[in-house]
Amino acid sequence: MSGMLCPQCGARTHRSHTNSFSERLIKALTSYKIYRCRECGWRGWLRNSKSPKRRHTVRTIISLLVTLLITTLLALYLIEKLNTPAPGSDYQQQTP
Ligand SMILES: [Zn+2]
Repeated sequence: MSGMLCPQCGARTHRSHTNSFSERLIKALTSYKIYRCRECGWRGWLRNSKSPKRRHTVRTIISLLVTLLITTLLALYLIEKLNTPAPGSDYQQQTP
C-alpha cells in the first residue's frame, strides 16, 4: 500500500471517507482522493502521481494537435483553390 505524504508536515496520510455528495462526485469524476493526516490533522485532496491518466492526456493533446494541423492544411488548400481564378474566366478576357 503506497501512502501519500502530507503537504503540510510530510507525514504519511491515510485515506479519508467522503462525507458529502460533492466530494463523492469529485472522487468519481477525477483521480483525486481525500486523504487525512494523523500528525497535524490536515485533510484534503491528493492525486496519485503514478496514475496512468497522465499518459492518456498527452495522447489526447497529440491527437488534438494532429487534427488541428490537418484541419488548418485543408482550410489553406481550400482558400488557395478559391483564390486561384479558373482558366477561361472573364478576368483573362480583358485584353484590348
Ligand atoms: Zn500532516
